[in-house]
Amino acid sequence: MSVVNLSEQKLVNGQFADEVLKHTGVNVRDCYQCGKCSAGCPIAFAMDIRPNRVIRMVQLGMKDEVLESRTIWVCATCSTCTARCPRGVDPARIMDGLRIMALEAGKTANAENEVAVHKLFMDSIGKYGRLYELELFLRLTLKTGFLFKNTDLALPMLTKGKLSFLPTKLKGANEVKKIIEAAARLEGEQA
Ligand code: SF4
Ligand code: SF4
Repeated sequence: MSVVNLSEQKLVNGQFADEVLKHTGVNVRDCYQCGKCSAGCPIAFAMDIRPNRVIRMVQLGMKDEVLESRTIWVCATCSTCTARCPRGVDPARIMDGLRIMALEAGKTANAENEVAVHKLFMDSIGKYGRLYELELFLRLTLKTGFLFKNTDLALPMLTKGKLSFLPTKLKGANEVKKIIEAAARLEGEQA
């Protein structure tokens, strides 16, 4: 990180932390870097930046580096980090807010596949009220080539009935769709 004037650094730090506070209601200044969030994160192995470091980088005003990371997209929103945090910080909510900020800023070039999974997943939930895995795999393949790299996994799942050929639409699918559309409107996204 380049050396910057301290007063300038303070201003920059405050700006990004305040933006995150506005998007999430979480004050990253409460984090004292104990690392318990990262120690318990089941997806940390696949992240380019561990959760506690993401929080630290937000404190330091490293906006571009954080919004361009893959971490915010591979986070599974399991909330283990949030449950473990002794300071009441909510890293899972912060990851949510950072995803929204990355989309708004158009900073998704380093995570195109992850963003595609995210959008197709939400699309499937909106249509059926639950995930229709086979359609997700096929649409993902058209976008990214994902399935061609994973036929060794997909074929046994199909033959063992773990992937159904036809979708099952939940009874309350329309209500689920309305919830997703309302959430998208609240976040200022296109539903
Ligand atoms: S568990 Fe909480 S206080 Fe500890 S590093 Fe993570 S966010 Fe910060
Ligand atoms: S919510 Fe995300 S960052 Fe937190 S433990 Fe789960 S996968 Fe890791």
